[in-house]
Amino acid sequence: MMTLSETLELVRPNITRLKPYSSARNEFTGGNAILLDANENPYNLWNDDLTVNRYPDPLQREAKLKIAKIKGISPEQIFLGNGSDEAVDLLIRCFCEPLTDSIAIFSPTYGIYSVCADVNNVQVKEFILNNDFSINLQQFFNGISPSTKVVFICSPNNPTGNAQPIETIEQILSKFRGIVVVDEAYIDFCPEKTSLSLLNRYPNLVVLQTFSKAWAMAGARIGIAFANPKIIATLNKVKFPYNIGVPSLSVLSRAIEQYSNTKSLISQIVSERELLRLRLQQLSCVKMVYPSDSNFLLVKTTDANSVYNYLLNNGIVVRNRTHEPLCNNCLRITVGKPYENSKLIQILNTYRP
Ligand SMILES: *Cc1c(COP(=O)(O)O)cnc(C)c1O
Repeated sequence: MMTLSETLELVRPNITRLKPYSSARNEFTGGNAILLDANENPYNLWNDDLTVNRYPDPLQREAKLKIAKIKGISPEQIFLGNGSDEAVDLLIRCFCEPLTDSIAIFSPTYGIYSVCADVNNVQVKEFILNNDFSINLQQFFNGISPSTKVVFICSPNNPTGNAQPIETIEQILSKFRGIVVVDEAYIDFCPEKTSLSLLNRYPNLVVLQTFSKAWAMAGARIGIAFANPKIIATLNKVKFPYNIGVPSLSVLSRAIEQYSNTKSLISQIVSERELLRLRLQQLSCVKMVYPSDSNFLLVKTTDANSVYNYLLNNGIVVRNRTHEPLCNNCLRITVGKPYENSKLIQILNTYRP
């Protein structure tokens, strides 16, 4: 288990020294000032309801207060990014020295971790999940080195659909001497499996969530990183100042007001997922459907390439994962609207090998 000061020693020295960009508006906290500091156009031309001629709040303070309230977390423990992808990139840039350090991932998993590492010339240590998609802890602890600075645990995992047990995450937190990132992009479909309750005990834990999936806001590009306030301050220092636009923050604020509606929609999607599972399992081209804690199903077919192309030719796009480790002949299928799922089953029923 790491202390806060040990955790902060993991930050790259150039980032620790970095003096962030500061705007004049950061220094003014009163209301109703005449704003002649940022070379904006003083006329709001394009949207009567939104002040889009002005730069947004770089620290998204209003949004964080609302998120803090529904998550039971303090606002200083919240970073908001242009999607959680921004947080992935920033974490690698804050903690990993190019050409020296490495990250660890558990494959098959979300592709962005390796892409961001590659962009930054940071090595990727890839560990393959067990056949039941659980993490092989022994293999992980034997395979990392002191230069492995960040481990990404995707839970529920994309594309396998399963959440990792909280005990596994805690075993990694108690022994790994680096940053532990738990990517909870799909956690709203299994809220009881979140690692957020570990945040106050482990200063090296970062939990990523997003408004892109269950919250129906993929087009707004807003993701969250939860971590101790010092890590949050480090991410804020490195990000571009105005990383989330005014229209996105406005949609977010509406979405949070409607949270209870979203929750009932989420449980509808979860029931629809189980219905879809039963119908898929009856098809002759389906060998098995893996358990899922998310809003998609990993489906082992008799021939993924052929089924994939058949669906495409019939106007249905799914994700072919057959070349990923442990995913031979697997398709990843998102749970859609009821008529979309029915159409999928109807088309698959007419598939002939
Ligand atoms: C979709 C997804 C995200 C979301 O990324 P955003 O940048 O927030 O849209 C993050 N992690 C995983 C595993 C995902 O599948």
